[in-house]
Amino acid sequence: MRYLPALLSLVFLCQPVLADGWEKAEWKVMGTLASLSYHADSDTVDPVPALKAELERLNAMLSPWVENSELKRVNEHADEQAVEISNEFYRLLQTSAHYHRLTDGAFDISFAGAGHLYDYRAGKAPDQDRLREAADTIDASAIELLPDNRVRFARPGMRIDLGGIAKGHAVDRCIDILRDHGIKQAWMSLGGDSYVLGQHGERAWQVGIRHPRQADKTALSLPVSDVAVSTSGDYQRYFVRDGQRYHHIINPGSGKSAGELASVTIIADTSLEADALSTSVFVLGVDKGLALVNRLDGVSAVLIRLDGSVHYSDDLTPGDG
Ligand code: AMP
Ligand code: MG
Repeated sequence: MRYLPALLSLVFLCQPVLADGWEKAEWKVMGTLASLSYHADSDTVDPVPALKAELERLNAMLSPWVENSELKRVNEHADEQAVEISNEFYRLLQTSAHYHRLTDGAFDISFAGAGHLYDYRAGKAPDQDRLREAADTIDASAIELLPDNRVRFARPGMRIDLGGIAKGHAVDRCIDILRDHGIKQAWMSLGGDSYVLGQHGERAWQVGIRHPRQADKTALSLPVSDVAVSTSGDYQRYFVRDGQRYHHIINPGSGKSAGELASVTIIADTSLEADALSTSVFVLGVDKGLALVNRLDGVSAVLIRLDGSVHYSDDLTPGDG
């Protein structure tokens, strides 16, 4: 077992402060907060400029809001003609197709046909007719990945969004950059997607999982190193109308917010995998979600239901403590 099960109880995050040689940075990017903590030797080159440049590059490629992003170009034309895309974008589409198959369709980047009709800031949701029409455009198996890095949508009106894996991919790229700088201990996070490199001084990092309904509380805390930890929650982008919570994780079958869970945390070897699976398991719910995680090597999960009950993958069976 990789984790200390007795520590999987309701505790507050308590990370000891290590001053010597530890550097911190925080900045806004990709619609969220990037934060980094790393151990620097006297000859370590500051990695922050390279990280910022890389995250801006990915944002310019993957954002649905940035003018001329590759994603926007694909959404504007791929239902009429094949669109040539970069190698990296093509590989992300292949990865998305892999998770679509693995999760029985729960992970579906064409959720965007319905997802983009919600305005979480303004508290707006589409009416039933509009939503039904949009839900008909959702089916990632109609995304055709053609030779020579080209993509075409076999359904009119289809739209995609890579928000379910973009930050995970970005964290993996940041970790590559930190390694290239010779950094051996670091914690890099982009919103709910993190990777912990090495240890925190002499000990494992303590990663806290936020309480889904109390922002200042940690629901539980895990000792980890050299793994990715991603949390998907119904509290990240949402509004409540007539007692109903509308949030950003969409059930591809209905175009509506997935209803059973409040948060899903996945621990995996790469941030891209943890990110894709946290979104997918959120859609799948406790039974199907845990069945999937329990079949996968090196993947652990902590799920918190709307009623507050906590459910663990088999390798994380909680102790008495
Ligand atoms: P995360 O916080 O990693 O769970 O990502 C949530 C983001 O994933 C949303 O803001 C959407 O951009 C995207 N998303 C929502 N529902 C799905 C889905 N069913 N499949 C793939 N991506 C999704
Ligand atoms: Mg995700």
